[in-house]
Parts: sequence; C-alpha cells; structure tokens
Amino acid sequence: MRPYNFSAGPAVLPEPVLAQAAAEMLDWHGSGMGVMEMSHRGREFISIYEQAEADLRSLLAVPAQFRILFMQGGGLGENAIVPLNLSRGGQVDVVVSGAWSQKSAAEARRYADVAVAASNETDGHTSLPAPASWQLRDGARYVHLCSNETIHGVEYQQLPDLAALGCSAPLVIDCSSHILSRPIDWQRVGLAFAGAQKNIGPAGLTLVIVREDLIGHALPVCPSAFDYKTVADNGSMFNTPPTYAIYIAGLVFQWLKAQGGVAAMEARNIAKAELLYGYLDRSGLYRNRVAPEGRSRMNVPFFLHDERLNDSFLAGAKERGLLQLKGHKSVGGMRASIYNAMPLDGVQALVAYLKDFAQRHG
Ligand code: PMP
Repeated sequence: MRPYNFSAGPAVLPEPVLAQAAAEMLDWHGSGMGVMEMSHRGREFISIYEQAEADLRSLLAVPAQFRILFMQGGGLGENAIVPLNLSRGGQVDVVVSGAWSQKSAAEARRYADVAVAASNETDGHTSLPAPASWQLRDGARYVHLCSNETIHGVEYQQLPDLAALGCSAPLVIDCSSHILSRPIDWQRVGLAFAGAQKNIGPAGLTLVIVREDLIGHALPVCPSAFDYKTVADNGSMFNTPPTYAIYIAGLVFQWLKAQGGVAAMEARNIAKAELLYGYLDRSGLYRNRVAPEGRSRMNVPFFLHDERLNDSFLAGAKERGLLQLKGHKSVGGMRASIYNAMPLDGVQALVAYLKDFAQRHG
C-alpha cells in the first residue's frame, strides 16, 4: 500500500488515475503514441480535451453562458491575468482572508486601483471576514475572494451574494485548493480560477471558468496568450496547452464521476473534516486556531501544544506512512491537506497516529 500523502500541493492523486496513466504511457488507446507525444491539434488529443471539458462542465454544473479555459501560469499568474482582463484599469476590491488573497491584492495593484474590502490580518488570518462587513466600492470592476485559503486553512462555506450586498460587480474566486470538493453557486460568481495541482492533477494547468460577458475587455498590454478572448476564441489552443496535465485532469474527472460526482465527494469531505477537527478539538495536545465557521475542509493547519515535539511528530508520522504533514513555513506547526483523493482511511490513520502520539507525550 502507498503511504498517505497530506501535501498541500502538488498533492495526492487517485491511485487508479496514476495506474491508468502508467498503463497508457507508451501507447494511448492503440494510437502508437503516448499522450505527451501527440499533437495538440490531432484528433486523439482533441478527443481527450473535449471529454475533459465536457466532464468538468457536468461535474460542476457550469451553465452554458460560462466558458471553460485551460490555461497556464498558475494561481499567481491569474493574479495578474484577471486584472489584465477584467479591471479595465479601474477599481478592484479584494477581500483578504489569508496569504493567497493578500498576494492577489498586491499583484492587482500593478494594473488597477485596488482597495482591501475586508481583512483578517490582525487575527493572523484565523477568522472569516463576514460579507456584511465588507467595504465595497460602487465603481469596482470586480471583487476578488479566495474561497479557500490553503495556507491558513480558512474557507468560505457559502459564497457571498454580492447583489444582496448592493454590489453589482462580478465576484472572482480563487478556488485553487477546493475546486471540485463542493458545488459552486454560479449565480454568485463571474469568474473562478484554480491551479490544478491540488484537487485536479499536475501543476502546469490552470482552469478559468468565466462568464461570457466578462470576456473581451483586456487591457491593450495584456499578453495575447493571457487574453481570455484569444484563449476562448481558440478553444484554449491559441498556444500549445499543457496537454499531459489536461489528460491527467480528464482522468481525475472520470474518477470523480465514478465516485458519484461532486455531491458525493462533498459528503465524504465533510465526514473527513469532522473526524479530524473533532479529534483535534477534543485532544488537549493539538490545536487548530481557525474560528469554527471558517475552517477549511481541505487544509487543516494544527499545532502541537509543545512545539519542541514537532520534529519527533513528523518523524513518527513518516514511519507510519503519513507524509508531508509539516505546516507552511509562514504559519509553522502542521498542516494536513485532505483533498478529494485522500480517502477516509487516510484521515482515520492520521487520527490514530495523533492519538497514539498524544498518549506517549500527553
Ligand atoms: N491560490 C491558492 C489558493 C493557492 O493555494 C496557491 C498555491 N498553493 C496559489 C494561489 C498559487 O498557485 P501557483 O503556485 O500555481 O501560482
């Protein structure tokens, strides 16, 4: 059995996906070529691409007026690409709920007049800035929100309804670290982007799902390869897309469908998160600092009461086949990322180790 991998990303992938990719490495479906060796314009790859796009659309129930773009540049790339396409050089409001949205605000400042609508910086990014408290400007071209903060483990359990807050700007969400872990309410979203390397597949692929009316307004300086209109008009093949990453993403989408889709995944993710947080809260030896209503189902940072035990905790975890539990360097402590591909068994194994360690050191 492979160890359980709690990396925040690049992260664990479903084993059947890896096995299928290995089996198809040298010869995809009798074509005589591996997927990495195929022209992106050939019928073989086009069939892979079209299937992946259709599966993603059905998994996330993406409405017809949204385009799905397969891009490159990662989440940080989108921090520039979004304002280049949507800001028209005007105002952008950003909600800071952790390290990633803070970076989004800083990057957008290069292209737009950015204001922080709300921030949880003063409490170390452990609370959830409540939508009712956001200071939104009438002229904002869009409002940016990181719906799941990977480093600080803060997640919006519901997307804000900007219209109900009296704001007509579209909501942009960076959903890199929880895409496909729960449904997305498209009525509340204008654009969603996500790097693939957490819940979808290999690094190098970035998904952008954007409402059609937001396409076609890029600043003149926007690189053609990053202009949503150019990308959309060319079916994500203006330049060579990350073909192998799209193929793996497609296998993950098929795996997700076989698991029962996003609703079934969400139910499992809830069970996994309840098990882990439930134990951490009861334990006495461990602590998660995030306010309960803002706790991420995907990324669970936690601390040992005695930080001098960190190294021995990590070494023991590794011995038990529990990998990559070290917290992000800016936060310290531990972090367990429990994405879609982490089975309940993995979380049970982690909790068993946490108990065992607490017994020995409590
Ligand atoms: N946003 C979020 C929420 C992330 O978790 C990450 C990566 N950890 C990024 C953006 C940055 O992604 P990339 O490294 O692909 O640019």
